[in-house]
Amino acid sequence: MWTADQLREQLRDLDGRGYRAYRALGPIYAFDGFHLRVDHVQGDPYADPTRLSALVAPADARLPPDALASRTARVAAADYLNRRLLEELTTRSRDRGSGRSGELSILRPGQEILHRTSLFVHEDGSIEARFRAGLPARGRTVLGKEAAILLCDELPDAIRAGLLADRSTDPLLRHVQAAEDAQALRAQLPAHGLVAFVADGSILPRRSGVDDRPLEGAGIVPFVSPDSLRVTLSTPHSGAITGMGVREGITLFAGGGFHGKSTLLRAIERGIYDHIPGDGRERVVSRGDVLKVRAEGGRSVAGTDISSFIDNLPGGEDTVRFTSANASGSTSQAAAIAEGLEVGCRCLLMDEDTSASNLLVRDARMQALVAAGDEPITPFIDHVAELRRRGISVLLVIGGAGDYFDVADTVIVMRRYQPRDATAEAKRIAAELPSRRTEASVRWREPRPRVPIPASIDPARGNREVEVRVYGTHRMTFGTQEVDLAAVEQLVEGAQAAAIGRTLAWARGRFLDGARTLSSATELIMKALEEGGLDRIDERRSGEYAAFRGLELAAVLNRLRGLRTL
Ligand code: ADP
Ligand code: MG
Repeated sequence: MWTADQLREQLRDLDGRGYRAYRALGPIYAFDGFHLRVDHVQGDPYADPTRLSALVAPADARLPPDALASRTARVAAADYLNRRLLEELTTRSRDRGSGRSGELSILRPGQEILHRTSLFVHEDGSIEARFRAGLPARGRTVLGKEAAILLCDELPDAIRAGLLADRSTDPLLRHVQAAEDAQALRAQLPAHGLVAFVADGSILPRRSGVDDRPLEGAGIVPFVSPDSLRVTLSTPHSGAITGMGVREGITLFAGGGFHGKSTLLRAIERGIYDHIPGDGRERVVSRGDVLKVRAEGGRSVAGTDISSFIDNLPGGEDTVRFTSANASGSTSQAAAIAEGLEVGCRCLLMDEDTSASNLLVRDARMQALVAAGDEPITPFIDHVAELRRRGISVLLVIGGAGDYFDVADTVIVMRRYQPRDATAEAKRIAAELPSRRTEASVRWREPRPRVPIPASIDPARGNREVEVRVYGTHRMTFGTQEVDLAAVEQLVEGAQAAAIGRTLAWARGRFLDGARTLSSATELIMKALEEGGLDRIDERRSGEYAAFRGLELAAVLNRLRGLRTL
């Protein structure tokens, strides 16, 4: 093993040579307090920067036992250290030559506490951080002195300040406790018959559509549960917590425009994740099988069974195996619902804002005008009761379609960002003003299970066997295909999309083998990743992946334009 001083000498000797001479670096150097491992050296100063790891032994990391006690604690501690190291790397990242020379970076977390391959806290208390450094060059000529400053001065300072500094452990433990409290709340939902919980005092609105941090200012209204829906749950670190319990069954969030309905639903859809302290949604939790679906005109659909919703299309298309390169608003949303239920979603979240209105409901006047035989769509409202009988819950934000009063178990009205339990009132109105709809005759049918064809899941591009690139959470390329992910709303980080793309490539032939159904393949893939870790999907020790659910894995697969199914 080499020392830090030897690295400094090595870099000075490389000065003035061609960029490829950097390939001589590695494999590992001993610094005071950590080891620096060279995982992959970039080919030129414009390419993705060099991948490096810092390995910290338990005695140097000195993490408190509470940060190591459970997997939840270790993931939260790692999430915290990732954020700290990011800060320290960012302040030391600067232009040191051509291209990306001098860049220091690590995966950038959002508001959620997630397992990421950029930073591991292992069971024994050791830390492994994977980050990137742009090795300095002028043109293609190595700048050895700059490289020595970058790797032997700036980087070790960042690692010591971010991972080793003799700091108070308070913020780290607060991070761990926030995650443990959230998981405890989530674990209590089934026993209380709840699908979600929104604690009193939560701050739900966000700064903007592209900034997920909490809104700040005088006008913010903290969440307060209606008395009739208030439940008390317990947490290990914060004692008893009160808040609104969203019960299993059919729940409507009604109210005037701009009164906070969508904001509440969005907080619930993100409640599948734990949030960092100060986020405002630390105690907003939902069950892990909650899925947000929406209309997505233009998406592709590969053999999805949407026949419960759509039948007798004018062109005679098969809707038991519905295939389209350009689905309409209603068919795309019907497909999203069927695909979610196919892989184990037990609670659907829908917002009228982003739904196809003709899929949600068809009122009495429209029924009178267009004969049932001429209307291919059986709206969601006609299936809701049967879905409930099958144990599927629905949370629906609705501002216009009062016909849903008849089928709802709970009606919550949002007014000036505050919820009110309006269930009795809505039922009284439904009795006084009957909707006069006639229920459709089409019965709910379990969507037909599909088997993905492996050859149609092709990650190759040019001479690369696997080529997956992500552009935020909204877009990725998988092989030669562009994939639009904007409607997969519960993806919160690009690193999740990157991991899903890579997982699909890895699972092709292994689990997606042309015989297994999508649902059983998804289950096996998630189990394999849980047991073997995310490193299974990429032997290169990548620091670019974040954990995801099977529901999102399937959602991405379903949006591959090349996908074909049996
Ligand atoms: P709706 O879906 O009912 O039309 P939104 O949820 O889109 O309403 O909210 C409308 C606006 O009010 C948004 O800009 C949102 O950020 C803001 N908002 C939502 N909840 C709160 C709150 N509790 N306090 C302050 N502003 C809020
Ligand atoms: Mg809205």
